[in-house]
Amino acid sequence: MSEKVGAEKIRIVKIHDGTVIDHIRAGKALEVLKILGITGEDGNIVTLAMNITSSKIGKKDIVKVEHRFLEVEEVARIALVAPEATINLIEDFKLIKKTRVELPETITDIFRCPNQRCVTNKEREPIHSKYEVVSHTPVKLKCLYCWTIVEEQDIISQFTS
Ligand SMILES: [Zn+2]
Repeated sequence: MSEKVGAEKIRIVKIHDGTVIDHIRAGKALEVLKILGITGEDGNIVTLAMNITSSKIGKKDIVKVEHRFLEVEEVARIALVAPEATINLIEDFKLIKKTRVELPETITDIFRCPNQRCVTNKEREPIHSKYEVVSHTPVKLKCLYCWTIVEEQDIISQFTS
C-alpha cells in the first residue's frame, strides 16, 4: 500500500482509460515504450516517470498510456525487460484490474535465437524456439536447442529493431 501512496504523491496525470505499467526497473521505461511501439505520435496521453523511489524495488519507472490495452504477447515481452512490472488496467479513472507480469521458467516463440546456425532458425524445418530462464537480474535465457546464452541486450535490441 505504501507504493500506492507514493504514486499519488507524485501526481502524474490521471488517464480516463488505458494501462499503467508500474514497477518497471529504473531506466527501462523507454525500452518498454519501444516494445509496445509507443511513440506518442497518435496523440494519446503517454506519461513517463523515471527513477522514482519505490519501497519494493529501490528505484522504479512508471509508464501510463491512454487508450491502450496490452496483448498477452506484449505482456510477455515486458516481462523480459521488466520482470517485476505490474500491469494496471484503468477504466473510467478507476483501477479495474492489477496483474504482475511473470517471467516463466521457459519461454517459447517470443523471439529468435541469435545463433544463426540454431536449428530454430532453419527455414525448412520450422521448430519453435524455446528458452530456459537462467537468470532474472539481469535477464538471461538459454536456448534449449543450441545452448546459446541470450543476454538482456540481445532481447532488447531484437524487440526494438
Ligand atoms: Zn538456439
